[in-house]
Amino acid sequence: MEAQAVTVDLQPLFEELTPLQLVELDACVHCGECVKWCPATAVEDDLKNTPMDKIAILRNLVQRRHGPLGFLKRGLHDEDIQRLAEEVYRCTACGRCGVVCPVGINCQELWPAVRGALVKMGYGPLEKIRETQGIMERVHNPFDFPQSDRNRWFGDFRPKDRAEIVFFVGCELAYRVTPMAEGAVKVFSAGGADFTVSRDEWCCGYPLYALGNRSDEIRLEIEHNIEAIKKLGAKRVAASCPCCYGMLKNRWPDYAGELPFEVVHVLNIADELLQSGKLRFTKPYAGGPIVYHDPCYLSRGWGAGEGVIEEPRRLLRAIEGVELIELPENRRLSLCPGSGGGIRRAAPELSEKMAARFVEEVKKTGAELLITSCPAVYERANHILSMTAEHKVEEGEPWGVDDRAITAHPPFKVMDIMDFAARHL
Ligand code: SF4
Ligand code: SF4
Repeated sequence: MEAQAVTVDLQPLFEELTPLQLVELDACVHCGECVKWCPATAVEDDLKNTPMDKIAILRNLVQRRHGPLGFLKRGLHDEDIQRLAEEVYRCTACGRCGVVCPVGINCQELWPAVRGALVKMGYGPLEKIRETQGIMERVHNPFDFPQSDRNRWFGDFRPKDRAEIVFFVGCELAYRVTPMAEGAVKVFSAGGADFTVSRDEWCCGYPLYALGNRSDEIRLEIEHNIEAIKKLGAKRVAASCPCCYGMLKNRWPDYAGELPFEVVHVLNIADELLQSGKLRFTKPYAGGPIVYHDPCYLSRGWGAGEGVIEEPRRLLRAIEGVELIELPENRRLSLCPGSGGGIRRAAPELSEKMAARFVEEVKKTGAELLITSCPAVYERANHILSMTAEHKVEEGEPWGVDDRAITAHPPFKVMDIMDFAARHL
C-alpha cells in the first residue's frame, strides 16, 4: 500500500532549529560513526533507530518545504514524521553521537530542538507532555509531590538570607535523592563556602523542555527562580543535577536574557575549596576499588565542551585510601545509562535496557562502589540492582530513604560524590 501523503505545516522546524542546525543536516556524510556509539541503538532490537537515520529523515522533511522535493510536489508522508517522532523520543540526548561525529554535528542540542518542532506540529507523546505540564503548573516539580514538602530534606540546615553562592537543589535532589543535597551542604559548610539555598525554589524547567514542550510554564518556572535567587544576592549559582546545570547555563538565558549571576556546578565549588586548602578530608576510605561515571551533561556539557571532568577525580583522589579505576568508556565518551532526556517518561522500557547494559559494564570493572554525580544515574543503577533485591524500587518512589534496595548483596553499591566526600570529612 502506498504511504499516505499529509498536509503538515513545517514552519515549526524553521522556528525551533537554528540556521546552523539546518545547515548541519546537510553536513552528514553518512559515515555511521554515530550509529556505532549510540547507546540507544546498541540495545534496540533492530538498526532502525540511529542518529544517522534521524538526520536523514529530518533533512528529507526540510527539503520538502521549498526544496527540490517540494518543487516536484512530492507530499509529506505521515509515516516519515511518525518515525522521526518515535526515534527522537527513543534517545536520551546524551550527545555521544555529536562527540564522535567527524563533521561536528551538535546532536545534543539538535534533538531537543527537533522535539520542540514536532510537538508544535502535533507529533510526539502529547498526552504525557500535557500531563507533565499539568503537574508542573500545580506543584512545580515533575513528580507530583507537594511543593510544601520540597524543603523537608533541610533537617537542621538553616539557609542564610543572603550569600555569595546559591546552591540550586533541583527536584530530584529535593524529593528523591536527598543524600546528594545533604552531601553538598556538608561539603560546602566544611570548606567554609558562603552559600545558601532558596526556600522558594521551583523546577528548573528541564523536564518540560526535554519533552519538547515550549509552553509559558517553562518561562514561569525560570522567572520565578531568577527572582528568588536575586533576593538572596548571589553572584554564583551552583547546580548539582547535570540536567539542571545544563538548563540554567544554556537555556535560562534564552528565556530570561543575560543572567545576573554565573552558573557553575557544585563540583566546581568543591574543587575550588580543595585547591585552596579550605576543604580537607580526615577520614580514610577503607573499601574496595571505586569507579566514577561521567554524567552525559557534565562530561559532554550539552555539546559545548565545557565539561566538568577532572574536578570529581581530584576530589576522590584527595581522600586517603581511594583506588579510582575507570570504565573503559569514560570522560567525553562515557556510556549513558538511559536516564536523561525525558526517556524515562517517553520510552521506559528502552531506558531500562540501557541501564541494564550500563550496570553490566560497571560489574566488569570489579569496582565495589559506583560514584556518580547525577541523580538520574543514581536512580537508574539502583533500579536495576534492586531487581534482584528483596525490595524492588519503582519509578516515582523516593530514594535515599533507607537501604532496602541494596540489602541483597549487590555486585556494587551506588553513591553520590558529595555524599561520599561528606562521609570522609
Ligand atoms: S544523543 Fe545519545 S541516545 Fe540520542 S542519538 Fe545521540 S548517541 Fe544516541
Ligand atoms: S557521525 Fe556525523 S557524519 Fe557520520 S553518520 Fe553520524 S551524523 Fe552523519
